[in-house]
Amino acid sequence: MEIVLENITKKYRDVVAVDGVSLELKQGELIALLGPSGCGKTTLLRVIAGLISQDIGKIYFDGKDISKWSAQKRNSTMVFQNYALFPHLSVEENIAYGLKVRKLSKSQITSRIKAVLRRVELEGYEKRYIQELSGGQKQRVALARALVVEPNILLFDEPLSNLDEKLRVSMRQEIKKIQREIGITSVYVTHDQGEALAIADRIVVMNKGKIQQIAEPDELYYRPANSFVANFVGKANLIDCILERRKNNKAVINLLGKIFEIDIANDFKGDRITVLLRPEEIKIIDSNTGVIALVKWKENLGIINRYKLEALGHKILVDVLNSRNYKSLEPGDTVNIDFNDEGIYVLYD
Ligand code: ADP
Ligand code: MG
Repeated sequence: MEIVLENITKKYRDVVAVDGVSLELKQGELIALLGPSGCGKTTLLRVIAGLISQDIGKIYFDGKDISKWSAQKRNSTMVFQNYALFPHLSVEENIAYGLKVRKLSKSQITSRIKAVLRRVELEGYEKRYIQELSGGQKQRVALARALVVEPNILLFDEPLSNLDEKLRVSMRQEIKKIQREIGITSVYVTHDQGEALAIADRIVVMNKGKIQQIAEPDELYYRPANSFVANFVGKANLIDCILERRKNNKAVINLLGKIFEIDIANDFKGDRITVLLRPEEIKIIDSNTGVIALVKWKENLGIINRYKLEALGHKILVDVLNSRNYKSLEPGDTVNIDFNDEGIYVLYD
């Protein structure tokens, strides 16, 4: 199913929960809606499902305007954070529920349940009650229940937020694998950038009801559209710079004491820009040719050490890959840092 959203707007009294959202989902694509709490993700998901209706805008399924269709007719299914399973029913009864509503025969129901339980690797759990399952198993049942009705579109609303970190990571890989195998168009809501980067074909970053950027994971990380996206996806050093000696699409900046000539968009008329320098683009060097910085704080994240440094009045994050022979820095140490123009990305907001 190919899905097109056209200028979707939804207000609650004075709150504009979703503000002019347009989006195209290709057949079989998994799109993540990513943004902070309250940015309108759930509202948009519910509008797609037909559980609430938009004030403005249209929705198309395979080119057909379905804006006025009921939720049932749209045939989408949703997987939630809190599972929304019937605790007093068995796994089998939970999964059968939607099939009974759709009036499938007993033998059809049995064979579909068998197939879907194999798909989510829960064979043999048919008779178990929901309260006898772990969190991860409950979420598999919820996924099975969503898949078994063969929906047009699969919707996820923060499905893994209740699980511990290890389980979250393995479940998201599994969800992606199953989604790929079935080839079902999916929308996956999360506030967790790591989850969005790991799972999605494309990510839609939202803030205050508006789309900030639609991009593939790598592009979002390396070419964010604005400071909000740069900050929300990964860690970012954002440094305000004055443009000097501007000449058409060239200008000179002084970035933490280093001078660079950079490319500037021709149509940009301002005299200041924001430079994005990712923490891993900054190197701590042995010689004293770089920029002097003071170590303020250190955090060992296993694979990396993350330092907060102070250089020329700026607070800078630097990530250094850990290794067996690496002696980490401590607060109070003075170091030299360096970076080159390949690590510089210019933002115009
Ligand atoms: P998210 O899922 O991104 O956290 P929501 O879509 O739940 O965001 O909410 C978007 C905005 O709309 C928030 O400001 C929220 O308070 C408001 N909102 C959501 N649902 C309702 C509702 N039923 N009535 C009034 N305001 C709502
Ligand atoms: Mg929500």
